[in-house]
Amino acid sequence: MEATVNDIAKIMDGIAPPNLAESWDNVGLLVGRGTTAVKKMMIALDVSPEVVAQALEQNVQMIVTHHPVIFTPVKKMTDSIWQHKLLLDCAENKIAVYSAHTSLDSALGGVNDVLAEKLGLRQTEVLLPSAGGEAGLGRIGILPVALTLAKFAEKIKAVLKLERVAVGDAGSIVEKVALCGGAGADFIDEALAAGADTFVTGDVKYHAAQQAVFSGMNIIDATHQGTELPVINMLADRIALRLSAGGFRTQVLVAKERKILQYL
Ligand SMILES: [Zn+2]
Repeated sequence: MEATVNDIAKIMDGIAPPNLAESWDNVGLLVGRGTTAVKKMMIALDVSPEVVAQALEQNVQMIVTHHPVIFTPVKKMTDSIWQHKLLLDCAENKIAVYSAHTSLDSALGGVNDVLAEKLGLRQTEVLLPSAGGEAGLGRIGILPVALTLAKFAEKIKAVLKLERVAVGDAGSIVEKVALCGGAGADFIDEALAAGADTFVTGDVKYHAAQQAVFSGMNIIDATHQGTELPVINMLADRIALRLSAGGFRTQVLVAKERKILQYL
């Protein structure tokens, strides 16, 4: 038996509980009919033109993404705006979309835990605990062996498959590392308060880098996409496991997503 869209939404609500999402966010089942049977589904970071093309080619009935397919309120839906064209493509082809954004960032085993594991952190704790829970945004942990900033940057490039990373060098050896997948530079002060010597995130602006470096904390911009992509394979594995435990025969595919920003 194939899972329905509602069955998969329920599995996702278990992996990334919607009550962990930030108040400004938009998560959950955002497009589609709950009763549609799903023979094939696809996991992706974004609903992008290349992901929708793959979904159509593979004939999938559902896409699960990290970034919300609908974020700001939609007042019209025409093909004049690229996001709305993709929404139309999904709706017209009966493809449902579930998005788990900050709910997946905060969840145990989500974006930030996967990133912490990739970077080899131990004794990992939540940087900004959610109200009344052990989950929350960001993580902080210890490297088993302290590294120079250059060596740590090499390690990040290797595990996240990046050509290069931007590094703000505060002169500290790297041992206590805070991180936040995506755009986490707003949490520099929390990372400092938690005693991190190094902060890893994406989308770091100039003045945010100054704030980190002149406060004595190294900062590494490993890109928004690069710090979030590792969760996608983990998500696919966990959904596939729960589907088979539930006796469902739905096939789980992982989209191929190119780096949107490349270095020339
Ligand atoms: Zn993101």
